[in-house]
Amino acid sequence: MMKHFAVFGSPVMHSLSPIIHQAFAEQVGVTLRYERILTPQGSLKEALQQFRAQNGYGANITVPLKEEAFALCKRHSSRALKAKAVNTLYWENDLLVGDNTDGEGLLRFLTTNLHLTLENKRILILGAGGTVRGILGPLLERQPQAIVIVNRTLDKASALADPRSLKAYTYQGLQETKEAPFDIVINATSSSLQEMLTPLDSQWIENTIAIDVAYHQAHETPFQRWAKSHGAKAAHDGIGMLVGQAALAFKCWYGIAPETESVIKMLREAQS
Ligand code: NDP
Repeated sequence: MMKHFAVFGSPVMHSLSPIIHQAFAEQVGVTLRYERILTPQGSLKEALQQFRAQNGYGANITVPLKEEAFALCKRHSSRALKAKAVNTLYWENDLLVGDNTDGEGLLRFLTTNLHLTLENKRILILGAGGTVRGILGPLLERQPQAIVIVNRTLDKASALADPRSLKAYTYQGLQETKEAPFDIVINATSSSLQEMLTPLDSQWIENTIAIDVAYHQAHETPFQRWAKSHGAKAAHDGIGMLVGQAALAFKCWYGIAPETESVIKMLREAQS
């Protein structure tokens, strides 16, 4: 039976999720229908009810609805509970179940596609929003030497910090420390979406692998450009994470995790 999926968000018309899931479906030999549903904040409950009434099987949730989705789900995976946000959901006997594949999706990109090991690495994370809540648990499981969080609003970063393994600073505060050098720098702020840069120091980026969770299909993000011109060994955008989180969502629905490399390549070729 052909299953019916959708991505809910606002904005959502730019979402690449339908293309990615169609590619996964071809890869594993199933047929599916996947649409984009523009849903303003506060109206996810009604939108999901309507979708379910039309035989909706599962969904992805994007900005700004991940916390709303979390509140609507009756059961959560442990990673959704840690992130307090849901990006993947499905119904089990009419019970709404929520998962969060963003963090593992990024980890999958780092380890499977970029072949990075995280053990004993020093990792700098820019930002302390929903995405960071989702990626911290999976990152800590890989036993890095240290994770440093830097955020404009210190309280949000401090709330995530843990005296044993996680330190939190403001941008200016970090400049006054000796935390650098780092091995990996992850920009998990939404600054690239505003075509802006956070206040960065070049000693944080020299010889690192830089990753921006944001992506533009047509050009590099401001953070990627900055990282490359200030000595990063490589700078990647968020397409790899996007495909990684989608692969794990697909696994929730079909029980099979598709291969991601060819789908990342297909999206890159479409953008060039
Ligand atoms: P949130 O709104 O929860 O958090 C935004 C974060 O960005 C906060 O830490 C905020 O700082 C910081 N920030 C925003 N603008 C600036 C700025 N101009 N200067 C410095 N810091 C800034 O967003 P999310 O965590 O949900 O999303 C973050 C990004 O992750 C988005 O770009 C989103 O598209 C992307 N994303 C990508 C995915 C992928 O698959 N590639 C998956 C999920 C998300 P403060 O706390 O001080 O306000």
